[in-house]
Amino acid sequence: MRKEDCIFCKIANGEIPSKTLYEDDMFRVILDLGPATKGHALILPKEHAANLYELPEETAAAAMVVAKKMAQKMKEKLHCDGLNLVQNNGETAGQTVMHFHLHVIPRYNNDGQHILWNPGTSTQEELEAVRKEITE
Ligand code: AMP
Ligand code: ZN
Repeated sequence: MRKEDCIFCKIANGEIPSKTLYEDDMFRVILDLGPATKGHALILPKEHAANLYELPEETAAAAMVVAKKMAQKMKEKLHCDGLNLVQNNGETAGQTVMHFHLHVIPRYNNDGQHILWNPGTSTQEELEAVRKEITE
């Protein structure tokens, strides 16, 4: 299903033009308008899902296959030195467009971007408590 007022539904389904890198039945891959680096792309499912929680499993699996294709393309054509896949869910996590999208961000030596987090610390007991909270 498409959502009436969703910009990524419109882009994914070709109602709004975009710089398309790849398209198949399920996805359109476009260049991000505000690229973190050269080649920063977004994998957009054509069916609306607000986030990963809502995304059908089949689409989630297929998105990773498309990500792999794009990664190979970026390496071959742009000669990137590395690549990040980033996927934000919820405002707290930095999601600004509420239609699932997977960022493909080619990385270059000294590109000035900081996509990594600050590592914390944890005891074995704390890790075990979290493990239980998640799994039990
Ligand atoms: P996020 O913060 O994960 O929700 O990412 C949203 C991304 O969409 C940002 O990187 C924006 O630059 C990008 N973006 C927003 N509107 C458009 C658009 N019309 N076309 C292409 N990229 C867009
Ligand atoms: Zn949508």
